Amino acid sequence: ILKSIYAPLRRENRIVGHIFVFQDITKQQRLENMRKEFVANVSHELRTPLTTIKSYVETLISGAMDEKEIAQQFMNVINDETDRMTRLVNNLLELSRLDNKQVKWDMKLIDAKDVLINVVNKMDMNIKRKNQILIVNTPDKVPEIFADRDRIEQVFQNILSNAYKYTPEGGKIYLDVEAADNIVRIKFRDTGIGIPKEDLPRIFERFYRVDKTRSREMGGTGLGLSIAKEIIEAHGGKILIDSEVGVGTTVTLEIPAVAATQTIK
Ligand code: ADP
Repeated sequence: ILKSIYAPLRRENRIVGHIFVFQDITKQQRLENMRKEFVANVSHELRTPLTTIKSYVETLISGAMDEKEIAQQFMNVINDETDRMTRLVNNLLELSRLDNKQVKWDMKLIDAKDVLINVVNKMDMNIKRKNQILIVNTPDKVPEIFADRDRIEQVFQNILSNAYKYTPEGGKIYLDVEAADNIVRIKFRDTGIGIPKEDLPRIFERFYRVDKTRSREMGGTGLGLSIAKEIIEAHGGKILIDSEVGVGTTVTLEIPAVAATQTIK
């Protein structure tokens, strides 16, 4: 897209030349479109739970309150929907802090394996309840990484909970930790529903989801992977995803081991 500006060049009231300025606004336009789309997405994502809450509250007010069992059910829905809104707003705040470089990184030497085990322990009950099998494969000693522990934990949590959410009952989740060439590589592999190839290039975009309804049913916000990507890249690392529909998904994190980096951008 080109924008042009024209102005005559005058000297003593005579036109002695012409000035044309052509400006390529393709990039600008694209950014503007992305911004608009983001605002539309946020509004929509907030309005959906609000609409639900409003209609349940109205029904309660107009009499359902007297039916104890129904009232209890409605209250549970309202509770879940407010939790979803809180999660969404917290994720948005985190993204905005990352965008504005306002994150105060608490960088320390940490053992990624420890953090992973921590996350596994937190998720274990859910995984067992869904009859899924979790197989962790890690060497005894893994080189340390220079990282913000809480944020790395958040990344592991986001990716593991996706594996759990998008893998049916009885499925398997494999976690492999490897150390190679000054990086620590962590693979999260599941035997879940998978992601169509055509969706893979956009999967790290904010709010991009293969199946909105399914993501919502699972309590997703559509921001987990984009937050994970921002955090891993801020640590000088990489996040990769590969998937096949009906077979499963593998998300791989590559984080520089300590000898390779000491600082953060
Ligand atoms: P959500 O909150 O919707 O899970 P994410 O950003 O974490 O958002 O993931 C974006 C989308 O990527 C999900 O909605 C889902 O469609 C897809 N996805 C992510 N991880 C997996 C996985 N392990 N298996 C299948 N689909 C996945």
